[in-house]
Amino acid sequence: MNTNNNILQDSFGRQHTYLRVSLTELCNLRCTYCMPAEGIQLSPRSHIMSYDEVYEIAKTFVDHGVTKIRLTGGEPLVRRDADIILKKLSTLPVELSITSNAVIIDRFIDILKSCNIKNINVSLDSLNAEKFKTITRRNDFEKVYSNIMLLIKESFNVKLNAVLIKGFNDNEIIDFIKLTKELPISVRFIEFMPFDGNKWDKAKMVSYAEIMEIVYTNFNEKEIIRIQDAPNDTSKNYIIKDYKGSFAIISSVTNPFCDSCNRIRLTANGRLKNCLFSSSESDLLTPLREGKPIEPIIKKAIQSKFKMRGGMDTQEKLEQPDLHGNNRSMITIGG
Ligand code: SF4
Repeated sequence: MNTNNNILQDSFGRQHTYLRVSLTELCNLRCTYCMPAEGIQLSPRSHIMSYDEVYEIAKTFVDHGVTKIRLTGGEPLVRRDADIILKKLSTLPVELSITSNAVIIDRFIDILKSCNIKNINVSLDSLNAEKFKTITRRNDFEKVYSNIMLLIKESFNVKLNAVLIKGFNDNEIIDFIKLTKELPISVRFIEFMPFDGNKWDKAKMVSYAEIMEIVYTNFNEKEIIRIQDAPNDTSKNYIIKDYKGSFAIISSVTNPFCDSCNRIRLTANGRLKNCLFSSSESDLLTPLREGKPIEPIIKKAIQSKFKMRGGMDTQEKLEQPDLHGNNRSMITIGG
């Protein structure tokens, strides 16, 4: 690591060691809280990072202290050269992981293993095929579910990410937790967050407190064990006594975790977002293509990072459409 010039530390002393890289704006699902119903204006192909550019930018971050890279999308595996990117990035001294909707992940088992990828997050918002179809606008529940079972059988560390929407899938919280009785997975419930075009409404969000109320109503208090969160963890983790897996809540809206944030994001068109909620972005791809150094741009972007949620440091601010709407849609951020 280049210690002379710590470009990844922000003005609050947070060291950014975790880079999330969105490989594509494309996806083979159309989740309602992620992809606006009317679709999105895709970046021109020439504006999307090539696999060499993904590698070069990622390597710059690794040279300055990034130790973890997560690949996201859209759906990262729909990118035709996803295998090349995986192989190139696996040569870097980082923990490489991926977030996928698992529709086609069965085709990548060998590549993922050869790239030493162990941690796979899968988005699954319902255990009901009809509801899955409603929220993803695609009929792939059986495929996704059998691929999740395949990942577990192949000994990957699987986390299921479920965005909870009130009146839609909040009645499945206990079913999801019961999955962890026999399956060594972590089920993570995500508070519905506002992004461009996802028609966010606070009334549709199921909060951390509401989730735990449902859990305490359905399990004996003594069975519900709060387990140690990992450093920089975004989730609050629990286990039901004697269950093989665990569950967790990611509460960016009601219980944000920005104090220990170590995350930065690179979009598929080569923009650095210093925060999931930041409306400002820094173009790394254009200067890279012009042969200019990108470190000063990275440093400036990290230095300008707000303490919390891109400056929306109160719930009131987060609820203001003109503030939270001034961001990308989730599909082009990658979570
Ligand atoms: S909202 Fe921004 S600052 Fe807070 S944890 Fe997420 S990325 Fe970090």
